[in-house]
Amino acid sequence: MNTEKLSQRLEAVANYIPRGFRLADIGSDHAYLPCYAVKKGMVPFAVAGEVVEGPYQSAQRQVKLEGLEEKIIVRKGNGLEVITQGEIDCVTIAGMGGALIASILEEGKNKLDSVKRLILQPNISAITTRQWLADNGWELISEEILEEDNKIYEILVAEKGDPFKPYKNLQKELLLGPLLMKQSSVSFQKKWRNELKNWQRILTQLENAAESEETILKKKELKEKIQMVEEVIDK
Ligand code: SAM
Repeated sequence: MNTEKLSQRLEAVANYIPRGFRLADIGSDHAYLPCYAVKKGMVPFAVAGEVVEGPYQSAQRQVKLEGLEEKIIVRKGNGLEVITQGEIDCVTIAGMGGALIASILEEGKNKLDSVKRLILQPNISAITTRQWLADNGWELISEEILEEDNKIYEILVAEKGDPFKPYKNLQKELLLGPLLMKQSSVSFQKKWRNELKNWQRILTQLENAAESEETILKKKELKEKIQMVEEVIDK
């Protein structure tokens, strides 16, 4: 991967950036995504945010190497603290857990007034990110699922609107993705078939273990999730 040719996953994220929007890429690592978006003329300006020194240095090096210092500012800081109010139209947060993405959005809520679009790519627990979006007035306008190097990734795109519009059965669709569920693509089927196998294995282990309040609760949760997923898996 480089700034000319992104991974399939990051390219899919980039495809949702509206032309001309000012971008903040949070957890930018090498700043590949903002460099790509600026070089392609997709965005006029970008902030690459990083909280860890090593990736922050890598981002700075990359931006300098590409001669993009006038258009991309690399800032060190936690989550959305690297942007100022009114500075950014579109935020990307990719390659982290869904709970971390949700906590970054929660802690930086006051910076989102001018932001028109969020493009989020949780590696795990997309349910936590969807829940945050629904709780905070962000409507899912697109979802994508793709497989690369034997890993399956979900991309959630949201704009301010009616957060419950895409949902019919909230509990089930927060887990599976209301739009992904409708598409029911090959990668979607594969992801949930794998999860199902995993949960069934854990359930068998729990059924053979000594019963406690904790195991009873865990089994109940697993059975509910298994049922929800069985309903959407092709037989
Ligand atoms: N976004 C890139 C991608 O999708 O390929 C890099 C993903 S990398 C696995 C996650 C990056 O997020 C790391 O460089 C890490 O330092 C950064 N990160 C984690 N928590 C962060 C936070 N609270 N604020 C900013 N960056 C964060």
